[in-house]
Amino acid sequence: MGELTQAINLIPSTERPEKARASWGSHSTVRKSVRTVLGEMAVGFTTCMYCGESRGTDVDHFEPIARNPLRTFDWLNHVLACSMCNSHRKGKLFPVDVDGEPLLIDPTAEDPFDHLLLTLSLGVYSPLTPKGETTIEVLGLNDRGLPKGRMHARKVVGLALREWDRARDRERADEMLEQVHTVQDQPMADVCQSMLRQALSPGADIVFSESPDLLALLRREDLREALLR
Ligand SMILES: [Zn+2]
Repeated sequence: MGELTQAINLIPSTERPEKARASWGSHSTVRKSVRTVLGEMAVGFTTCMYCGESRGTDVDHFEPIARNPLRTFDWLNHVLACSMCNSHRKGKLFPVDVDGEPLLIDPTAEDPFDHLLLTLSLGVYSPLTPKGETTIEVLGLNDRGLPKGRMHARKVVGLALREWDRARDRERADEMLEQVHTVQDQPMADVCQSMLRQALSPGADIVFSESPDLLALLRREDLREALLR
């Protein structure tokens, strides 16, 4: 990877974006190994790191090649993405603020919940920061049927956690683990992570007013340890 970056560095800057793109396209072994490593890093189901819903099939350059060709082969610039996010949504977009700072959440380096709040009952994200706002807009996080998928994920998590609790009553460690895997292997992992986080927030009693039993489960240390990444 270092040698490939060096080679790009030797190309005159005006030709760099085009030739870097061609180099990425021609090194299929490198592409495949990046894709494999990113897939292995993910917990459970390997979903898109932007939308969390569809299978991550592509390697997206967080900072586009056109903008910074020298990051074409930079591990930290590679994001596992679905083709919708990679080709039709984010694509080559890379909005920045007046200081040149990125206005998209970097899923490999940042905690999305610093910028986004998920309304669990609706499956809709609200921005907490300008970066959160741009990310919602660029990736279409509140359309494409994603809120519906998140509401479904919330239901699945609720059912699995209650099953986990019943298995715990019967002291069935194998069944408890199976329920943990059920949660981890489904898409929309952001929903469970958000539930775990909101269960400890000051407004938790309101958020989970219709399911206090679920709130109690989400606050259990042993379950949190199994589910928190
Ligand atoms: Zn996606």
